[in-house]
Amino acid sequence: MLSIKQLSKTYANGVKAINDVTLDIPNGMFGLLGPNGAGKSSLMRTIATLQDPDSGSIHFDGLDVLAQPEALRRQLGYLPQDFGVYPKVTAEVLLNHFAVLKGLTGRGERKEAVEALLHQTNLWEARKRGLGTYSGGMRQRFGIAQALLGSPRLVIVDEPTAGLDPDERNRFLNLLAKIGEQVVVILSTHIVADVTDLCPRMALIVKGEVQLQGEPQATIDTL
Ligand code: ADP
Ligand code: ADP
Repeated sequence: MLSIKQLSKTYANGVKAINDVTLDIPNGMFGLLGPNGAGKSSLMRTIATLQDPDSGSIHFDGLDVLAQPEALRRQLGYLPQDFGVYPKVTAEVLLNHFAVLKGLTGRGERKEAVEALLHQTNLWEARKRGLGTYSGGMRQRFGIAQALLGSPRLVIVDEPTAGLDPDERNRFLNLLAKIGEQVVVILSTHIVADVTDLCPRMALIVKGEVQLQGEPQATIDTL
């Protein structure tokens, strides 16, 4: 369970991107729905300890995230919205590099983890291809593979379905749903169907504020 209390963040340019956000995020898939500029990325970057809020608290299974960011990072998988790929590097090679950075320094454990993730994300056949040859869906699945290195208990995925065609989107969301059976997965999106299709819980965020939270159908029906 991730518990966010009275979180606020105003950028130097005066934009109040997070405005007194209080949210309880249980295990499973959680949808963070909101239009562009609502503050979803700001909230996710703050949970991921990539930027500090001005005030408020974040706890993950009892861990005080803002007091112990390193401890959170060890349990975190993160797929940013603008995840860049290196066109000539193969998925297998890059995943191995990320694995070293994640602390999987033993050759055996690393090989095992990388192979398992390539299978899980259905990229095994394409593992020796440069990432520049991948479709949008394949790139996002590679993004999830790197986020899952080190068996994180909290997985944050920022607008992953943007630009995916319907088949790729379904494939990707089904993969996320499987991961969500084991750990907390927070998915941000501006597409209502992304949350109604597979998130048991969601929050609607507009102009930095949580407008509604609950089960998707009940939440959408009150709009
Ligand atoms: P979303 O992810 O929902 O599109 P963001 O969190 O990216 O929303 O942005 C929320 C608001 O904060 C927007 O008005 C955006 O322009 C602004 N913003 C985001 N990041 C920064 C930043 N580093 N500095 C200043 N303003 C920012
Ligand atoms: P999103 O599409 O999620 O809203 P953005 O495109 O707003 O994301 O943000 C991309 C990057 O640019 C982020 O690192 C964010 O902090 C930064 N950024 C966004 N808006 C601003 C802004 N108004 N001023 C400065 N940096 C910004």
